Amino acid sequence: MASVTIKCFVGHHQSSPEKYHRHYSFTAPSKCVVRSQRHHRRLNVVQAAKSSPKITGRNLRVAVVGGGPAGGAAAETLAKGGIETFLIERKMDNAKPCGGAIPLCMVGEFDLPLDIIDRRVTKMKVISPSNVSVDIHKTLKPHEYVGMVRREVLDGYLRERAIASGATIINGLFTKMDIPQEKNAPYILHYNAFNGESVSAGEKMSIEVDAVIGADGVNSRVAKSIDAGDYEYLIAFQERIKLPEDKMKYYENLAEMYTGDDVSPDFYGWVFPKSDHVAVGTGTIGHKPDIKKFQDATRRRAHDKIVGGKIMRVEAHPIPQHPRPRRVLERVALVGDAAGYVTKGSGEGIYFAAKSGRMCAEAIVEGSEYGRRMVNEGDMRSYLKKWDKTYWPTFKVMDVLERLFYRSNPAREALVELFGNEYVQRMTFDSYMYKKVAPGNPLEDMKLAVNTIGSLVRANALSKKMAN
Ligand SMILES: Cc1cc2nc3c(=O)[nH]c(=O)nc-3n(C[C@H](O)[C@H](O)[C@H](O)COP(=O)(O)OP(=O)(O)OC[C@H]3O[C@@H](n4cnc5c(N)ncnc54)[C@H](O)[C@@H]3O)c2cc1C
Repeated sequence: MASVTIKCFVGHHQSSPEKYHRHYSFTAPSKCVVRSQRHHRRLNVVQAAKSSPKITGRNLRVAVVGGGPAGGAAAETLAKGGIETFLIERKMDNAKPCGGAIPLCMVGEFDLPLDIIDRRVTKMKVISPSNVSVDIHKTLKPHEYVGMVRREVLDGYLRERAIASGATIINGLFTKMDIPQEKNAPYILHYNAFNGESVSAGEKMSIEVDAVIGADGVNSRVAKSIDAGDYEYLIAFQERIKLPEDKMKYYENLAEMYTGDDVSPDFYGWVFPKSDHVAVGTGTIGHKPDIKKFQDATRRRAHDKIVGGKIMRVEAHPIPQHPRPRRVLERVALVGDAAGYVTKGSGEGIYFAAKSGRMCAEAIVEGSEYGRRMVNEGDMRSYLKKWDKTYWPTFKVMDVLERLFYRSNPAREALVELFGNEYVQRMTFDSYMYKKVAPGNPLEDMKLAVNTIGSLVRANALSKKMAN
């Protein structure tokens, strides 16, 4: 399924990129345009080096606002690249409401120590509206798994690494930013500094920097400061449930995804294993007032497996559905949730946050020649071009899948039926685990196309029958 859809999408993408571009403000259109963009990127770098003034007596100063995966990864890369880096985080022990699932490639790419991964999930079940359960892990290789992390652990680890690389950490709440009126003049960031004891008060402070990375999540104040515009969002609701030992054993290395109008009309419900408990949750885009009703249904669907559990914590948080209309202005760039980098339909954002933070920081290091020159908007935009070129297909595929399969219960039954196919499982896991659009097998792709069409036709017929 994944590869067929990817191919359809690539065709669509190349013939009419404007629609998506207009809607989501992505920038990677057809092959010939990509070629000319490459050319432009080269020009940008050369121009930056020629036109940006050299900085004397100090290095380039960059503030990263927000110390989640996006901010931690950005600050580490900047500091390693010779930039004077300030990482502003309001809450050092922040436990971001999150399922905490990360793809295998993140462990390697970000050199994560294995002891910060609570669980290695090697079994996954997708459950249809009529409770047909399909194991989708059959093609996993012995070394492959989905990592489950606690966010307070992952975020803290990435921040510590940024500090060890030379970043200065500021425990404070960023409140507003003064945008410079003159070229190359500094940005002034205002924040309430905490001394570790209280987050309610805080001393009013400010800092001058040459560029800013907004990694402050879905309610980004940096985004507001540059009038970045809004995005559609999903509200996710999650309960942390401590299970009796025998029940926890069942979820030891297993994650479940429940589909159906009862658990969510436009997303899915989940049970994810954590260190000593499970996270049970769901989300919705279009029916937010009913979120508790969907959560009750998710709990009911998993009832036999979680009965006797005690709810330890209840949490809710928005998840962006597409990038903001603006992600860069002058010397300010947005990354992670602040930019809107979460795949639709799956709600995955941790890897994309860390990756975008790193890519943006790399563009600044390169553009500033390791902190020796001022950067300009062209340098910041070179991150956007690279990002869109690399991840536009992934985001678009998820968008198409969501529209095809999340629209009715019969369509969800069709999705679960397709997941029974081992080729679909392999393609899906390869795309998720390695963040690469996996090359398909032409014969299997053909069979899959026929199966997909068959499943969807059956789903449509069933929908009509149910409507009459
Ligand atoms: C319930 C739920 C489940 C999810 N499950 C998964 C999952 O299983 N896998 C996955 O990949 N993704 C998941 N996501 C998405 C994922 O959590 C986000 O995409 C990811 O956290 C984005 O990282 P970030 O660094 O951009 O932002 P955040 O993680 O939101 O970090 C922003 C940081 O900025 C700080 N901050 C904010 N404002 C200020 C300010 N004014 N001043 C100073 N600091 C500030 C915050 O304290 C925070 O530390 C889930 C989301 C939700 C809501």
